[in-house]
Amino acid sequence: MASSYTLLANLRAGRCSNTAEVRLLRSWEARNINKGGELISVDMLFIDENSTMVQGSIPALRQLQFKNRLAEGSIYTLTGFDVVRSNPMFRLSDSTFSIHFNEGTELEKLSTTVRTIPTELFRFRTYDQLRELANTGKQLPDIMGELCQIRSTITDRIPGAQRVMLSLRLESGTVVCVSLFDSLAPAFHSKLDSYVREPKIVLVTGVNPKIVAGKLYLNGTSATRVFFDSETAVGKDAFDRLPSDGTDQSASSSKVVHTQKIEPMKISDLNQFVITADPQVVEFLCTAKLTEIQVAEGWCYIGCSVCSKKLIREETSFTCAPCNETNAVAQLRYRVILSVSDETGIAAFLGFDTEITKLTNVLAAEAAQIVGVGLNAQVDTDLPRVLSELVGKTYTFQLKLKDFNFTAHHQTFTISRIFPARDLAPLLTFAENVEVHEQAHLQNVAPGTDDRAAITSDVAEVSTAGDGTLTGREAEANEHDAAEDNASKKARVE
Ligand SMILES: [Zn+2]
Repeated sequence: MASSYTLLANLRAGRCSNTAEVRLLRSWEARNINKGGELISVDMLFIDENSTMVQGSIPALRQLQFKNRLAEGSIYTLTGFDVVRSNPMFRLSDSTFSIHFNEGTELEKLSTTVRTIPTELFRFRTYDQLRELANTGKQLPDIMGELCQIRSTITDRIPGAQRVMLSLRLESGTVVCVSLFDSLAPAFHSKLDSYVREPKIVLVTGVNPKIVAGKLYLNGTSATRVFFDSETAVGKDAFDRLPSDGTDQSASSSKVVHTQKIEPMKISDLNQFVITADPQVVEFLCTAKLTEIQVAEGWCYIGCSVCSKKLIREETSFTCAPCNETNAVAQLRYRVILSVSDETGIAAFLGFDTEITKLTNVLAAEAAQIVGVGLNAQVDTDLPRVLSELVGKTYTFQLKLKDFNFTAHHQTFTISRIFPARDLAPLLTFAENVEVHEQAHLQNVAPGTDDRAAITSDVAEVSTAGDGTLTGREAEANEHDAAEDNASKKARVE
């Protein structure tokens, strides 16, 4: 039974019994990062002879049926699919419709065709358009530019998410920053390693523009693919137009700069960021002086000795809900709000047990005693000396800006790690030929401090502990718990 041919532009909502003839441009897996990377769908971009580009999607439960037949660049006939209205968010094509594979969809690879179907199509945007799209989540455009710099954390020994930042000079001359996180970062490095030389032109697909602290970042997504130099026709054009500098590429210095994975920020940037940015989980480094321990909300809470979560006060005992224990053993834990400052402003940072214990080298339970149980429980020390002695010292704080920090009533930044104030040497090296608009970040480099000698050993120690993420989550849970009870008392304890 032969069905009639349709152009993608003529698709209408509903099940399509006509046949489209398309080239598969790219395909990728969409995964749910909140569910341990569970596969949601295999997504792709199709293009037809009229250069109409349409996104396709195969739900996870049907992907095995098609996956092995998906070869990028190949031409297919496609029939028996559903045509649905495109999601208005994270658009990868300008088409108002998308293709969904169903149980009756037929996808047949063609070895030849009489039609001329383009081999590539990209959706480039100007710098101004990218800024306009920033933080809207509406479009995932493509970007191409001359490679100025690769900043990479791949060799940094601190565990956790890796990151590669590419500085690309657009045709207009403006330099933009592309951030590749998670699996995109090591994938970029393997591509770079297997490439014969450092690329001059880099094309990155499906980026999500974000403005953070006034600066435009183009963040990689699951639809992101990286192409070098002549791997695309449009890239080859740009490559051929580059002025020849007459030098041997192999002799020129590498553009790869290894650096810290987390951006340093000034306090004024942090405060501004909270006001302007979308709620999101993002981490920054901030070097600041500890000016005061805030005691209005106390400096500790009564936690479970097993799971460390805040205990519920009963008449004459403590209950731990997570442990399902009505007679829980209490243990004092730190929850300290630190007033900090740098030359740009002041802020309040919230530190939890693990990080504060590292600073004091004294457990909260050793610094004070819990007097009484249940509703009458109090702590016998207003502010332990090990805490007040921290005032006046300068540290580099790694901060996790969560949704919680973006509400008007909670202007605190949760600390995920504390380091001795560090000399950010790799960034200094980088500063020599950095673009002007990046200087703001680089000025954050901490002046030399007495703690400098301790830097290396401390970072190494942190890398073996590798507890940053867990601590952050734990901290958040406790923070919400602790915030519920606002009764104020002398030698306050939660
Ligand atoms: Zn417990």
